[in-house]
Amino acid sequence: MNLTELTIHELSGRLAKKEISAAELARDVVARTEAVEPRLHAFLEWKGEELLAAARDMDERRTRGEALGPLAGIPVGIKDVLNVKGHTCRCGSKILEGYVAPYDATVIAKLRAAGAIPFGRLNMDEFAMGSSTENSAFGVTRNPWDLERIPGGSSGGSAAAVAAGEVPATLGSDTGGSIRQPASLCGVVGLKPTYGRVSRFGLVAFASSLDQIGPFTKDVTDAAMMLGAISGRDPNDSTSVPEPVPDYTKALTGDVKGMKLGLPKEYFIPGMDKEVEAAVRAAVDKLASLGAEIVEISLPHSDYGLAVYYIIATAEASANLARFDGVRYGSRAKDAKDPIDMYGRTRGAGFGPEVTRRIILGTYVLSSGYYDAYYLRAQKVRTLIRRDFMEAFTKCDAIVTPTTPSAAFRIGEKSEDPLTMYLSDIFTVNVNLAGICGVSLPCGFTKQPRLPVGLQVLGKPFGEETILKVAHAYEQATEWHEEKPSIEILSHS
Ligand code: GLN
Repeated sequence: MNLTELTIHELSGRLAKKEISAAELARDVVARTEAVEPRLHAFLEWKGEELLAAARDMDERRTRGEALGPLAGIPVGIKDVLNVKGHTCRCGSKILEGYVAPYDATVIAKLRAAGAIPFGRLNMDEFAMGSSTENSAFGVTRNPWDLERIPGGSSGGSAAAVAAGEVPATLGSDTGGSIRQPASLCGVVGLKPTYGRVSRFGLVAFASSLDQIGPFTKDVTDAAMMLGAISGRDPNDSTSVPEPVPDYTKALTGDVKGMKLGLPKEYFIPGMDKEVEAAVRAAVDKLASLGAEIVEISLPHSDYGLAVYYIIATAEASANLARFDGVRYGSRAKDAKDPIDMYGRTRGAGFGPEVTRRIILGTYVLSSGYYDAYYLRAQKVRTLIRRDFMEAFTKCDAIVTPTTPSAAFRIGEKSEDPLTMYLSDIFTVNVNLAGICGVSLPCGFTKQPRLPVGLQVLGKPFGEETILKVAHAYEQATEWHEEKPSIEILSHS
C-alpha cells in the first residue's frame, strides 16, 4: 500500500511509534505524484528532493528525541497563491512569471512549526477567480473521478491532489467557495474558517473582506488537526482575531443528539441536480437518525448573494491587482516607450481574460458615477445577508445545505459562459459575505457517471467546533469518505 492512502491521524500515529519514517512517506508522496501528474496536472511544480531532505531531517530529529509538533513529517501541498520562501508563487498567472517568494506566509510558518513540510505548488484559477481551474494560465487540472471533468475551483489542484492521494492534505483559499466547491466536486473535506480565524499574511489578496485560507483533507479529523495548526491571531494581519484556538479534535465526539440543524428553504432550488438534492436530503435524514433535530429556517436575502458577491469581490480585486504593474513583481513587458505604456503592456499580456473582465467590472462599480448604485448598495445588502444568518443561528446550532447545485461538469462545458460558471457558487458565496464558517464533506455520488456530492455544514462566527462535530458525526455514520478514485486510471503507464 502507498502510505499516502492514509489520513494524517493514522500517519502521525505510525510516525510517532516509528513504524514508518517521514522519509518513507515522502518517497510514497513523490512516487504517487510522479505516477498521476501526467494525467491529473494538480501541481504546477514540485520538488521531490527538497521534500525527501526535509523528511530525513524530521526523522533525525525524532531519533534524537526532540519534541515534535502534531503534523511532524506530514507533507502538505500548497495552493499557488501562498508565499513559501524560495518557491515560485504565480497564482496561476503569467504575470507573476519569475517571482520567487522572499518569505513564508504565516500559515506556512505555522505548518512548519507543527512539523509539516510544505510541498509543491498547486494549480488554481488565475488569481483565484473561477470555479473550474480552467482559468489557470498553465492548463486545467482534471477531476480524479473522471478525467474529462473539472475538479472545481479556484483551488482545483488542492482538491484533486488530496482526492488522488498525492498528499494527505493541502491548503487552499476561499473567497466565494474556492475551498468548499472543489472539495465537494472531488469528494474530499474542505473547510473555510471564519473571517479572522486564520491569518492571511502571505496570501496574495483577491478580495480582502472575503478571503480566508483553509485545509483540504481526507476526513474531518484531519481537517480539525490542520485548522488547529494554522489558526490564531497574527500581528502581521490586523484582521486576524485574538480568539483562543481550541483543540478542534476534542469537539469530535460523534454525538449530535439534541443539536438543532437548520435547513434553509432557499437552498433547494429549481434547476438543481436531482441526484445532488436526493443525496443531501438523505444526509439530512441520516443526521436526524443520529438524534439531531432538523428545523426549517429561512435566509430570505440568499437570492441576492451572487450579485452582491460579484460586485464586492470584483471591486476589491480591481484595487488589489493594481500592484501587478511590471515594477514590483514578476514579469515586465519589453520595448515599452514609457512607464504608462509599460504598465499597459505588462498587464495586457500578463492577465488572462477572466482576470481582465473582473478588473474592468470592479473598476466600473467603484467609478464615481456608479459607486452608489452598485458598490454601496451591495454593501448594504451584504449586511442583510449577514443578518439573515445571525437570525437563523438563534434558531439552530448549525445549518446544512448542498455545497454545489450539481456534480463536476465537463471541461469546456461552461468556459464560454461566465454567468453559468458564476452559478456554481450559489450556495457558497453568502458564507463569505457573512464572514461565517463552513465545511464541505462527501455525502454520496451521482450514478452515471459516478461523481462525488458534497454536504455543506455552516456555523456561526468561530463556530468551527460545532460544524466539525456535526460533519464528523455524519462521516462516522457513513462510508462515503472511504471510497477513492481509481489510481490505475489516473496513473500514466
Ligand atoms: N468561484 C468564485 C469566483 O470565481 C469564488 C472564487 C474563490 O473563492 N476564490 O470568484
